[in-house]
Amino acid sequence: MTEPLSYVHPTPDSPWGTYLMQVDRVAPYLGHLARWIDTLKRPKRALIVDIPIELDDGTIAHFEGYRVQHNMSRGPGKGGVRYHPDVTLEEVMALAAWMSVKNAAVNLPYGGAKGGIRVDPALLSLKELERMTRRYTSEIGIIIGPQQDIPAPDVNTNPQVMAWMMDTYSMNTGTTATGVVTGKPIHLGGSLGRVKATGRGVFVTGREAARRINLDLNGARVAVQGFGNVGSAAAELFAQAGAKIVAAQDHTGCIHNANGFDMAELMPHVKSNGGVGGFKGAEPMKNEEFWDTDCEILIPAALEGQITAERARRIKARLVLEGANGPTVPAGDDVMADRGILVVPDVICNAGGVTVSYFEWVQDFSSFFWTEDEINVRLDKIMVDALKRIWALADQHKITLRTATFAVACERILQARVERGLYP
Ligand code: NAD
Repeated sequence: MTEPLSYVHPTPDSPWGTYLMQVDRVAPYLGHLARWIDTLKRPKRALIVDIPIELDDGTIAHFEGYRVQHNMSRGPGKGGVRYHPDVTLEEVMALAAWMSVKNAAVNLPYGGAKGGIRVDPALLSLKELERMTRRYTSEIGIIIGPQQDIPAPDVNTNPQVMAWMMDTYSMNTGTTATGVVTGKPIHLGGSLGRVKATGRGVFVTGREAARRINLDLNGARVAVQGFGNVGSAAAELFAQAGAKIVAAQDHTGCIHNANGFDMAELMPHVKSNGGVGGFKGAEPMKNEEFWDTDCEILIPAALEGQITAERARRIKARLVLEGANGPTVPAGDDVMADRGILVVPDVICNAGGVTVSYFEWVQDFSSFFWTEDEINVRLDKIMVDALKRIWALADQHKITLRTATFAVACERILQARVERGLYP
């Protein structure tokens, strides 16, 4: 009876196509809930907005923005906002759906949502960026709110963007609504530990996975694609644990040093140059050669669709930690499974960010703020406990960690759907 959606045209490698295949793979493990599976294949709500702004030179520019609420059975929508020239409705739908799965996998009381604007923010002045952010927030203001849907940072958005979003929503509603977004600056109700939380979660899941495959982090070689918020924070924590960061790739270039980068030099270089390109303490290499790097751990922390079947055949790592959302297409997943490469999937690996976002939201409601130590200890426990349950299911059914994570999460989402019932 249920027809495919008419407004997107996914392919096997596109983000929504990848997500649909991941859902199909979990169906055999859902028991009686499997009859509800189409719920997961259709976003609850997708809003497309026009964002007109006056540029500094007086011309008018229009940008296309989105906010997709994939599933809200377990609570308000939660998920980041991405500014990137390649953002599409289809991509935002997949990112929103992965948020539903991720939030359920770590058992946060949230549904899944995501937003984005099709823009290259590097081409805008700070004032133009602010105007665009405020207009976008006003346009999606009809569906966001502290109890409805709570945006957060993603690619090319940061605490300053969140501060503008919080202020715009607050002005429009005549309140001080700190809980409408997370990832805010600390003195506006932000949480300690939030900026590095996603990278910390990648490290925590990586540490647990390494233990299971008897991989010593001390001396382990790590390659990182994407050296932004997620990739750089994860790299720093692995380096602190004794690992060597031997390769890094981002939109500014690709660098390599078999002895490991000096992180105390690389981090300021990235900060002042906007990326890893041109770093003196390493050799440059071609982008495509990144996938051939001799390493034990590979961390894709940039964008979707990076690990294709062809690249998966070349990867030398024993462990892949998906810091990015959707970095592996299903064919790449199959190759890595065949080759015995352990993949900790995005929907658990990068859940540290939304977990500390949840802490931020809770702190905002109570106006009582926790220490960074409390936050990091709680984050560690939530990630480790979630991973234990996922691992047990993977062992029981002999399935990948991705399918096991989807099984744990989809069961929670669909159980909530069944208990709430269909209205009317
Ligand atoms: P960011 O904007 O801080 O960094 C993005 C990084 O990707 C930059 O280093 C950039 O140079 C690199 N990049 C962009 N295009 C690239 C390309 N074509 N090839 C190689 N590198 C490229 O973004 P972020 O917040 O670190 O997000 C990275 C990934 O992690 C995204 O998939 C995002 O959805 C995911 N994620 C982020 C969070 C978070 O809390 N920020 C949480 C969960 C997942």
